[in-house]
Amino acid sequence: MYLIIGNGISGINTAEVIREKDKETPILIITEEGFPYYSRPQIIEFLAGNIKEEDLPFYSESWYRENKIKVLYGEKAIKINGEKKILDTNKENYKFDKLLIATGAIPFKPPLDNINVDGIFTLRNLNDAKDIISFIKNKERVIILGCGLLGLEIGRALSQRGLKVIGLEFFPRLIPRQLDEDGARILKRKIEERFNFEFYLGVRVQKIISYNGRFEGIELEDGRKIYGDLLMVSAGIIPNIDLAKNSGISVNKGIIVNEYMETNIEDIYSCGDCVEFKGKIYGIIPASLDQSYVAGKNIIGEKVKYQGTIPSNTLKVTGIDLTSIGEIDPPKSEEFEVIIKKDEEKGFYRKLVLKENIIVGAILLGDKRKYVNKIQNLIKSKKIIEEREELIYEE
Ligand SMILES: Cc1cc2nc3c(=O)[nH]c(=O)nc-3n(C[C@H](O)[C@H](O)[C@H](O)COP(=O)(O)OP(=O)(O)OC[C@H]3O[C@@H](n4cnc5c(N)ncnc54)[C@H](O)[C@@H]3O)c2cc1C
Repeated sequence: MYLIIGNGISGINTAEVIREKDKETPILIITEEGFPYYSRPQIIEFLAGNIKEEDLPFYSESWYRENKIKVLYGEKAIKINGEKKILDTNKENYKFDKLLIATGAIPFKPPLDNINVDGIFTLRNLNDAKDIISFIKNKERVIILGCGLLGLEIGRALSQRGLKVIGLEFFPRLIPRQLDEDGARILKRKIEERFNFEFYLGVRVQKIISYNGRFEGIELEDGRKIYGDLLMVSAGIIPNIDLAKNSGISVNKGIIVNEYMETNIEDIYSCGDCVEFKGKIYGIIPASLDQSYVAGKNIIGEKVKYQGTIPSNTLKVTGIDLTSIGEIDPPKSEEFEVIIKKDEEKGFYRKLVLKENIIVGAILLGDKRKYVNKIQNLIKSKKIIEEREELIYEE
């Protein structure tokens, strides 16, 4: 039996990859969540009120039946005995032939006093979204700690619910990991024009202000106080490694895997947000898809190697098209060639980064989808680019 812990995109996609070739070996997925697989970006739309709970499940019940994939909901894996090949959960124990740990990640919360009082939230799953929705009734102001992609998307969703959004960011620009200075400035203007957002950039939260166990506001390091009804913390993720740690599996910040997605224990694999590959934790869907493909293939005995993933992120905010891929802010050196086209008034910014005539990174803000796809394909295929002008001005 193939046993998969975690029913996120990494777990379910590994099951799908296994089933492409192996139609018979039983697959059992165990998940702590009480809900069939859904794509996490969809919970932003749920939070915004754009879709209903019943629209969330990605696969129909018959899909699971036809593919002979059994899922046990609301069950937590506690410990794996790698030698005897037994998994203990909070309810049962299971014998397996091969096991995949796809336990994902949990949101990081900065270690501030009062970080757990009422009115402070993170968003990772459907239950979190439901808690936020019931809390925001009759509320007016949300403070968002962390203006990365997720923080901005949460802000957009809550702005659609009628809240004023105050975004706080430690770095002096928005989406610091996927945007450079110019891109971030143009994006900030676009967001402020379209939504009820106000930003404080380059700030550090020093204190949470609370009264009677309820959130009231924050105090910045420079002494400024900002008040709000709730605080959304969107400050990164921590790989969920507890199960691996409990079971003698090598971990660092994430579960350590080799290029076959194998852990240090035979027949135990891992992939997705919980893993660390060559010192890197990706935390994005494209990496989960690549890694689960490799895990699935190796589980059924095909030797496939993982080569790493070129990070690719798209901001899903209506009216703002932003995609950031690969190396977007290279060190100033002759190795890299940077081509920029921008129109601040129109909110357009296109940056292509080349190395040895191959595009290795891009920021595409306000570009047409067709062009974005083209650049994505060029990066993936590592095609040698001859004609710069043609590339940059094509519409
Ligand atoms: C709101 C939101 C929007 C996002 N948008 C994007 C986006 O637009 N683009 C992008 O690339 N990425 C996005 N991400 C990140 C992306 O969702 C993750 O990279 C992806 O979900 C990782 O998948 P995973 O299967 O590895 O982990 P998860 O999706 O976290 O799944 C892990 C599952 O394992 C379960 N589990 C954990 N421990 C146990 C245990 N001990 N026993 C049983 N079950 C357990 C958890 O309950 C969970 O269901 C977003 C994330 C969020 C939260």
